[in-house]
Amino acid sequence: MTENVTTDPDLSIVVPVYNEGNNLPKLYDRLLSVLQQMQVNYELIFVNDGSLDDSLRFIKELAASNTSVNYISLSRNFGHQVAVSAGLDVAVGKAVVVMDADLQDPPELIPQLYAKMQEGFEVVYGRRVYRKGESYLKKMTAKFFYRLLSKITHVNIPLDTGDFRIMDAKIVRVLKQMPERNKFLRGQVAWVGFRQTWINYTRDERHGGATGYTYRKMLRFAFDGITSFSDFPLKMASMLGFIVSGGAFIVMIYALLARLIFKDYVEGWASIILSVLFLGGVQLICLGIAGEYLARVFNNVQGRPLYVVDESSKESGTEATEK
Ligand code: UDP
Ligand code: MG
Repeated sequence: MTENVTTDPDLSIVVPVYNEGNNLPKLYDRLLSVLQQMQVNYELIFVNDGSLDDSLRFIKELAASNTSVNYISLSRNFGHQVAVSAGLDVAVGKAVVVMDADLQDPPELIPQLYAKMQEGFEVVYGRRVYRKGESYLKKMTAKFFYRLLSKITHVNIPLDTGDFRIMDAKIVRVLKQMPERNKFLRGQVAWVGFRQTWINYTRDERHGGATGYTYRKMLRFAFDGITSFSDFPLKMASMLGFIVSGGAFIVMIYALLARLIFKDYVEGWASIILSVLFLGGVQLICLGIAGEYLARVFNNVQGRPLYVVDESSKESGTEATEK
């Protein structure tokens, strides 16, 4: 095993882990051979996000046998974005790679990311030109979501990218200072700026196990992405309000004319019930949209720690608990 204990590593690799016991041995093998070829000082940071399988046991064994392997174990499942944030909080490398544990992000791409960064970029992200083995629904919803997001935000969030990327320590420093709780890291990284570029890659099939992203988690994630980078839904709510009240105003004038001047009025049950239902629906939608933002404000003012660390091989991990 290579010993790189002293000075800051050139490269930190942050891997969030949720029930990846079957994939970790393979991931570690592939990572290790790539890193040894690169001849850089590295640290591997595994963040155990409340796995229910033997992932943690395996990670601890690795950490015991290789001093370049570190781990943080969270007290329960906090979700992918929070797990990555926890890893970034302790990463000290001059460059930091974020990648999934299920081998969908091929470790062999890291040298390319690293080389591209040396050309003078602060962020190089992997852009998935092709996604193997993911359901049609997932691909379609993802595609739609990224297009919608780029339409309604002011930040240039790159299309079709995940969190597989390499970042300069500068960027990581800014990310650590961003206090929002509903993390949408790929948007936050885009927001930070500097020189960012991408390389294309084919996203592989999951090596083993099942995805930890249920449709429910994906929907939450999509909401977080939109609400933290766009106030378009709020504006849409008020726009809808104006349009509907404009329409209602015209109908009102018509009703008054009919009643007082033309004396031509009938029971009008249908129109009343329709407008009541329609207005009720629009109002509920708008209320819901305002509620989504309010929920986020609430979440943030509560000021709870973003995650709780159960155990960790890194000293700074305890500081992170205070975050
Ligand atoms: N993950 C996590 N916490 C979760 C869900 C997922 O740390 O609650 C990790 C998971 O172990 C993997 C990465 O996040 O390393 C991506 O998750 P997954 O492969 O399930 O997502 P997908 O590739 O299907 O979008
Ligand atoms: Mg995956």
